[in-house]
Amino acid sequence: MKIILPTSTVGSLPKPSWLAEPETLWSPWKLEGDALIEAKQDALRVTLQEQLNANIDIVSDGEQTRQHFVTSFIEHLEGVDFEKRKTVRIRNRYDASVPSVVGDVSLKKSVFSEDVKFLRQQTDRQIKWCLPGPMTMIDTLYDAHYHSKEQLAWEFAKILNQEAKELEKAGVDIIQFDEPAFNVFFDEVNDWGIAALERAIEGLKCETAVHICYGYGIKANTDWKKTLGGEWRQYETTFPSLQKSSIDIISLEYQNSNVPMELMELIRGKKVMVGAIDVASHNIETPEAVAKTLRQALSFVNVDKLYPSTNCGMAPLPRQIARAKLHALSQGVEILRKELRNEMS
Ligand SMILES: [Zn+2]
Repeated sequence: MKIILPTSTVGSLPKPSWLAEPETLWSPWKLEGDALIEAKQDALRVTLQEQLNANIDIVSDGEQTRQHFVTSFIEHLEGVDFEKRKTVRIRNRYDASVPSVVGDVSLKKSVFSEDVKFLRQQTDRQIKWCLPGPMTMIDTLYDAHYHSKEQLAWEFAKILNQEAKELEKAGVDIIQFDEPAFNVFFDEVNDWGIAALERAIEGLKCETAVHICYGYGIKANTDWKKTLGGEWRQYETTFPSLQKSSIDIISLEYQNSNVPMELMELIRGKKVMVGAIDVASHNIETPEAVAKTLRQALSFVNVDKLYPSTNCGMAPLPRQIARAKLHALSQGVEILRKELRNEMS
């Protein structure tokens, strides 16, 4: 039987303290070599079990195998020099020291297919895997070779497509591309960002998603949100093109955000992963608060296309808070499922 309102998380979940420093984004590994590989697999088992305990329908690896959602992929590419670093401004918001593109970029060997196979062996549930989107990748690098954002995005899109096909073969049901940059560079998104994303999903038979958020709950992002005013209409400029695109699912931030719900009208027909859990707050949502957000979303998304989720990744949160938020998500969805069953009977 088809699950209505299937739950999922956006991607990352907290790492255990024996693997990496807790409550820290992008914290370095505590182990190395074979011990690290084993520890990552153990962490993946734990994070999967926690999702199952919380009755999450579409599960993930919680990004236990990744230090950073972009660089952990980029470090496997030819043509990028991690020694040659430059400080650049990320999404016009904060400075970071990033690697440089120094030659033609290419991918010799799949980055994540072994991890996907490992996750696939552990569960029969649908699995989702996250990759960085082409536009967000170029925003996390200094380009000393192509000198064209559009061309570099296109090269990355071809590489992502190659990787995505490997992940599909390894048993992934949904591949999600993280594109927080879509909420910043609006003209470029419409000019070539969505085209690059479509190049990345070309020929895939599994489902595809794009995650567009207002970022992790770090200070640079929460400060930025304060400047956005009472109504966040960023999605409005890119939704019409996304609606026409071949991407299946769009993952958005709604809980405690000032995004007007009615903007979802602009992507009518797409499946929407609606963020009903705030990742920038340690307050645990009540199931009723989750249900309320999703109930509102149902005015703009058909019930068979609504996928309850989190606003963004939960990696920086304390483990017990992330765990409680997973439970709040599924309990909130259960309230709504009951209401829908009553309406139908
Ligand atoms: Zn996000």
